[in-house]
Amino acid sequence: MAHEPRVPLRPAVAALPAYVPGARVAPGAAAFKLSSNENPYPPLASVVAAIADAAADVNRYPDMYATELTEALAADLGVGADEVVVGNGSVAVLAHVLQTVVGPGDEVVYPWRSFEAYPIAVAVAGGTSVQVPLRTGADAGRLDLPAMAAAITERTRVVMVCTPNNPTGPVVHRDELETFLAAVPSDVLVVLDEAYLEFVRDPEAPDGLAVHAQHPNVVLLRTFSKAYGLAGLRVGYAVARPRLAAGIRAVSTPFGVSHVAQRAALASLAARDELLQRVEHLVADRTRLVEGLRDQGWALPESQANFVWFDLGERTMQRAEEARAAGAIVRPFAGEGLRVSVGEPEATDLFLRVSATWL
Ligand code: PMP
Repeated sequence: MAHEPRVPLRPAVAALPAYVPGARVAPGAAAFKLSSNENPYPPLASVVAAIADAAADVNRYPDMYATELTEALAADLGVGADEVVVGNGSVAVLAHVLQTVVGPGDEVVYPWRSFEAYPIAVAVAGGTSVQVPLRTGADAGRLDLPAMAAAITERTRVVMVCTPNNPTGPVVHRDELETFLAAVPSDVLVVLDEAYLEFVRDPEAPDGLAVHAQHPNVVLLRTFSKAYGLAGLRVGYAVARPRLAAGIRAVSTPFGVSHVAQRAALASLAARDELLQRVEHLVADRTRLVEGLRDQGWALPESQANFVWFDLGERTMQRAEEARAAGAIVRPFAGEGLRVSVGEPEATDLFLRVSATWL
């Protein structure tokens, strides 16, 4: 047996929960991968061409600060280039945001169940997680913003607001977010994680940029992984006020976003209309999936993302296995429920056939 060094791991690292990736599906396998909220469409030809062109330059380090992409995003969003920080997926940007403001013993408040990277990123930053349960009953799956505000203490440095919430799907509403922000001290950072923003159709959803403009302590987190279909290239970004943005940049992994990824993200911005047309198809299929499930008698939270959530309790693992056997790979949260991504139309058809057998 190989000898391990006698070096102790940090207790926080030894205690980290696992991040469970969606199951890997071999290319060409006869199964739909509905476990990671990915975009089922392959990259556009223009994006593939940009990737191929960029490949010729990979003997050089990339532009460390992704200048062109940062400027394109800033122009697009109507903010300064000093307010945009691009990183290696929004999950890395989140880790860097936390490392910028959280120290040992500082608290980070977030909803739970929510994105499974949160407890890991908080612990790695040296902070303490304060998890606030989601609402139950008729509002099941929604964030409980009053309870989150009430959980803030003198030690709280950051509050995470995941909207739409992964894995349950609902958004926060403009009025409840304003009430919440009015209750949050101005020296506490509020991170709006908008990974699924482009799938939101609820007219009561807040406009993150307007909220950021009005509240200096609000940071937005966005990604090219979902609507823009670049999950495999790892590009996300934060919108934050300049001093904070400079701090996030300072703690970021040097050269963290590859040249290939930067060029692909720029090509995706250039092809936005076409990509957002695909999002329309996914939103239409979300509606078809949700209505199909409701017709079958399922009670589901109101999903504004590219996935739906089933509260299945103890039957979760069994149902996930049944879906897999039928050709749909979904994401189980043991003892809680299943998250099913909106994929190809055929995947929706298949999943509706499977869920009908569960009633
Ligand atoms: N935030 C949320 C809520 C997510 O669900 C995800 C992806 N699962 C991310 C952030 C991270 O996305 P990425 O790192 O690919 O940008």
